[in-house]
Amino acid sequence: MTDPLPNGRLTIVGLGPGDPDWITPAAQRALDEATDVVGYGPYVARLPDRPGRTKHASDNRVELDRSRRALGLAAQGRRVAVVSGGDPGVFAMAAAVLEALEAGEPGWRALDVRVEPGISAMLAAAARLGAPLGGDFCVMSLSDNLKPWDIVEKRLRLALEADLAICLYNPISKARPWQLGRAFEIVREVRAREHLILLARAVGRPDERLTIRTVAEARAEEADMATLVIIGASTTRLITRSGDAPPFVLTPRSYGAGA
Ligand code: SAH
Repeated sequence: MTDPLPNGRLTIVGLGPGDPDWITPAAQRALDEATDVVGYGPYVARLPDRPGRTKHASDNRVELDRSRRALGLAAQGRRVAVVSGGDPGVFAMAAAVLEALEAGEPGWRALDVRVEPGISAMLAAAARLGAPLGGDFCVMSLSDNLKPWDIVEKRLRLALEADLAICLYNPISKARPWQLGRAFEIVREVRAREHLILLARAVGRPDERLTIRTVAEARAEEADMATLVIIGASTTRLITRSGDAPPFVLTPRSYGAGA
C-alpha cells in the first residue's frame, strides 16, 4: 500500500440536466482543471476533447469500479473530475465515490476529495413547469436495482398518504419495464382522479417534452429513462394562460393554515 502522491485531487462534479448554461462556474472550473474525467459514457461524451485531458467513459452499472479507478488516479497525483448528470448527490456518483473511499485503501482518506453541486433534474423540471414543488415534497428513485421493491412501494404509499408532492427519478427502463405502471396503480388508490401527474422529459436538452396529465389519464408508456415524474399533491393546480402558452403548475406554499 502506497501513500497518495501530493497534488492529487478528485472532484465529483454535477453537470446539470443537459443545457450547458446550467453548469455552475465552479463545476466548469473543476472540469477545466481536470487531467482525467471519469463517468458514465453519455456524460463524458458531453465534454469536448482537449489536449492534456483524458476521458474515461464507462457503463452505467459499474459505479463502484469507476469510483475506485477515479480514487486510484487521484492517488497517483492526477486531478480527476468524476461527472454526474444533474447534482452528483442525487442518486449519483457522490455516494458511490464515498462508498469506495470508505471501503478502500486507508491512504485514500488523505486525498483532496470534493463535491461540486449541480442543478438536479427535479429543480430544472419544476422551473419549466412553474412551481410544482412550492410546498412540501419528497424525492424517490423508482429503481429497485439497489433496494427491494416492497420498500419502494411502502415509501411511495406513505408519501402519498402524507399528501406530499413526489418526484420520481429512474421511473422506467428496458430492464425495469413495469415499476412505473405499478406505482401509478398505487397513486390511483390514494389520490383523486383529477389530481395532477407531470412528466418532464429531457429537460434542458433539444428533445425536451413536458406533459401534464391527471391521475386518471397518466400512462407509464409516456415516460422513459430520461423522464422525471412529479406526482402532484392534492393542492397542486393549473393556472391557465392566454394564447398558446402552456399552463403554470402551482403547488402553493400555504396548506391548511387559514391563509
Ligand atoms: N443526479 C441526477 C439524477 C440521476 S438518476 C440529477 O440530479 O438529476 C437518473 C434519472 O434522473 C433519470 O432516470 C431521470 O428520471 C432523471 N433525469 C436526469 N436528467 C434529466 C433530464 N434532463 N430531464 C428529466 N429527467 C432527468
